[in-house]
Amino acid sequence: MNVLLNPGPVNLSERVRAALAGPDLCHREIEFAQLQSGIRDKLLEVYGLSAGEWAAVLLTGSGTAAMEAMLGSIPGKDDKVLIIENGVYGERLTRIAAIHGINHSVMHYDWGQTIDGGELEGILSRGGIKYIAVVHHETTTGRLNDLDAIAVIAERYNVDLLVDGVSSFGAEAMDFEDRRIAACAGTANKCLHGVPGISFVIVNRKHLDKNNAATRSLYLDLATYLKQQDAGGTPFTQSVQTLYALDAALDEHREEGGWRTRRDAYRQRLGTARAGLMALGIEPLLEESASSCVLHAYQLPDGIPYQELHDKLKQDGFIIYAGQGDFAKSIFRISMMGAITMEDVKRFIESVRKIVRSKA
Ligand SMILES: *Cc1c(COP(=O)(O)O)cnc(C)c1O
Repeated sequence: MNVLLNPGPVNLSERVRAALAGPDLCHREIEFAQLQSGIRDKLLEVYGLSAGEWAAVLLTGSGTAAMEAMLGSIPGKDDKVLIIENGVYGERLTRIAAIHGINHSVMHYDWGQTIDGGELEGILSRGGIKYIAVVHHETTTGRLNDLDAIAVIAERYNVDLLVDGVSSFGAEAMDFEDRRIAACAGTANKCLHGVPGISFVIVNRKHLDKNNAATRSLYLDLATYLKQQDAGGTPFTQSVQTLYALDAALDEHREEGGWRTRRDAYRQRLGTARAGLMALGIEPLLEESASSCVLHAYQLPDGIPYQELHDKLKQDGFIIYAGQGDFAKSIFRISMMGAITMEDVKRFIESVRKIVRSKA
């Protein structure tokens, strides 16, 4: 089996894989209601959130479904959203806002740039903004945007955050209670190590229960899901087997020690890979302190185009990930989520060494 160094889907543990073969189940039966509510509780427990104030809403769909449900459901009829872009996923938030006719403005940075707090403060001080939508870990470049710094500024202007945490939930620090997080989108198949097919939004309940609420989608309306899931139901058929797998993955996550343990394991693997690649003359795109614990991006080695590097590594059983857009010809990315061992990381470095040497 290939070692997946792409940012999700991830290599499954045997326990999660076995859970997929759970009993056939109708989504209108009590057993489903129990499975669903157990998972919703476990998702809140990842960051120690109280069920009175917070809720996890489960959706059948990939991470983008959760982004779209969050952005389409939380801002009220005329609430204005400031979207911060510094990569593909920030730009995706803007496309979602435009499609749904959400009142928004954009603070744009080139991919990989840092967000300027002074500029943010300037925009918020002019007033009129209700929410900031921002990506936590921008997978385009591996940059971890500083949510705390954004939240401190937002707080001064009574603005709340809508966070794309799809590639950070479960492994990076996320201060829900003390920061102004209204909602956070996540997915089963990245840092939580489940199977693709289920995504979720962690929502502060008061942001869905308000009198200027807007309905912009039939399928992705969070308020509908929340009401029915609180009552043990679901508006539409859910991916039952994917939920079995997510339930097992959340148990494994907790038993291993939660998000901190996961962050430390990823950091060790990425750190070993980074040292090994740099020793081969392969330069990282960003400095380590600006990067997530999940993924690092590197400049392609001299004289080796992405496709060649990808194909040769695949022959050795490793799947790397291409850069997007303008980065397609200049970078590659590796992520360390999922059931990957340090042995895998060392074998990966050996494989890269062999490819680079054969060119020298
Ligand atoms: C993976 C990812 C998504 C969702 O992508 P899907 O292909 O819909 O699962 C959203 N945001 C970020 C930051 C991601 O890394």
